[in-house]
Amino acid sequence: MIRPIIVANWKMHKTIPEAVEFAKQLKKEFSEPGDVDIVIAPPFTALRPVADVLRDSPLHLSAQNMHWEEKGAYTGEVSATILVDAGCEFVIIGHSERRTLFGETDGMLNKKIHSALKSGLRPIFCIGETLEERESGITFRIIQKQIKEGLNNIISDDIRRIALAYEPIWAIGTGKTATPLQAQEVHRFIRKTIATDLEHAHASETVIIYGGSVNPENTGSLMNQPDINGALVGGASLDFESFADIIKISET
Ligand code: PEP
Repeated sequence: MIRPIIVANWKMHKTIPEAVEFAKQLKKEFSEPGDVDIVIAPPFTALRPVADVLRDSPLHLSAQNMHWEEKGAYTGEVSATILVDAGCEFVIIGHSERRTLFGETDGMLNKKIHSALKSGLRPIFCIGETLEERESGITFRIIQKQIKEGLNNIISDDIRRIALAYEPIWAIGTGKTATPLQAQEVHRFIRKTIATDLEHAHASETVIIYGGSVNPENTGSLMNQPDINGALVGGASLDFESFADIIKISET
């Protein structure tokens, strides 16, 4: 039985007081470990203050990005070591906004994943096709390439520590969700690719979460799919009530 993960990706939203207040509310509402792992990914500035709130709670902290080098002259970047020091357990790697707006390639993401794992972080590795790729019928080819290149040379023991996030780019922040069956079809393909192309013996245990306009209305039908093990939530995670509802629906 896979333990689902629900991730709040706050992107470039929330000041430190706003992030701390949200974290306090979440800690109060979900004070006992439930049936899903709850992860919040605030902006860099709020990581340490939120980590201080989440201490001694079942909630987890994630960063939204990192650099692959451990230290050095990389102005504006943070390393995995710095994120661990700030209290992170997870890091989102390869979000489509990083790929499209900041030119991150699967080769770069592979280096980030190696570095994150080495420092003890659990990567949440995002993959997904554009609308054009879906309409050209090459979704599976794109997904397979992203998995093979992004997870190149990752040993089986480490694949167990990675969560994959399938995020069709056309569904992110657009209000368009992949139908549960569209999402399930790709999730099943991801699991198969991990088993066959990466020769990972425990693909049936890999956490594969869905992202793209997830909200309280569509969570139930997405989570009912056999290969969907949680959600990466953007817009709907900024509001406490809607994020709490998504968690509660995922637990039932
Ligand atoms: C995301 O940030 O990864 C995301 C899926 O955003 P949204 O839920 O707003 O589509």
